[in-house]
Amino acid sequence: MIYLAYGIVLSWLMASPVSAMDYQLVPQAVAKDTYAFVGLAEDFTPSNGGNIVNTAFVVTDHGVIVIDTGPSLRYGKQMRAAISRITDKPVVRVYNTHLHPDHFLGNQAFKDVSILALEKTIAGIRAHGDRFADNLYRMVGGWMQGTQALVPSGVVIPGTREFGGHTFRFIERAGHTDADLLILDATTGVLFAGDVVFNGRTPTTPHADLDGWIETLEFLSTVPFDVLIPGHGPVVKTRDSIQQTKHYVQWLQNTFKEAANEGVDMAELMFYEPPRQFQTLPVIRSEFQRSVSHLFPSFEARAVPLAQPR
Ligand SMILES: [Zn+2]
Ligand SMILES: [Zn+2]
Repeated sequence: MIYLAYGIVLSWLMASPVSAMDYQLVPQAVAKDTYAFVGLAEDFTPSNGGNIVNTAFVVTDHGVIVIDTGPSLRYGKQMRAAISRITDKPVVRVYNTHLHPDHFLGNQAFKDVSILALEKTIAGIRAHGDRFADNLYRMVGGWMQGTQALVPSGVVIPGTREFGGHTFRFIERAGHTDADLLILDATTGVLFAGDVVFNGRTPTTPHADLDGWIETLEFLSTVPFDVLIPGHGPVVKTRDSIQQTKHYVQWLQNTFKEAANEGVDMAELMFYEPPRQFQTLPVIRSEFQRSVSHLFPSFEARAVPLAQPR
């Protein structure tokens, strides 16, 4: 009896750290042969393991196409296992939409597959990928075990291509980062928007060019789609999330410009109260403060100098 109880406790002790690091990835069917793994509208924490991002896959006649691989090797492996529960077709191609770590650090789980990204994304991952991985280790801990930045093996050339019974349009834009890949599956009408679009979560801006981002969102409102998979937040069938992202980015830009012209200092701006429409966005406070630290210095540098010191 004692041995039995000991055995139960021992197996529980051995099992708990592993089961505690289960991302519980459940594919959500969003269109014919198209699935998304939808992450939480949170910051990176040791309890979510970095599962705050959306990834996706399409089952084509020639195999499975994966769009983004999540924040860690563990996520990538669990994603691949979840895909294999939907189809026995092999994964044949992976795309990274941009260089942010929660979108590509699962690449190692697909190292036998060709992994493609835009040229500048590849250069960014090559230059900064390991630092990004270190940062995520600090924020989420053991979930990241074994994770290293695997640089994509090939370049996506923008344009329209047929693959496995689907017509894919690969679009290169910029603004969220210096290279943002949008993928439109014209066959199913699904738009994989990456982090150009945030739905119901405060946008992140560590590599943003706000003017470029607004232009890209304006361009996006002309792209026809039936379903939009944003980089973060629920999958949608409407254009509201494009507008929501645009309004937020425009508000950031106007707020920073005015604050810089009025000589408001950075510490003061950190505690600026966002307007009511943004106050309910998850993680608004922390993301706004991060945006101040990323972007405000360049607004200050460009500000019109005051004619008279105050
Ligand atoms: Zn991003
Ligand atoms: Zn992201």
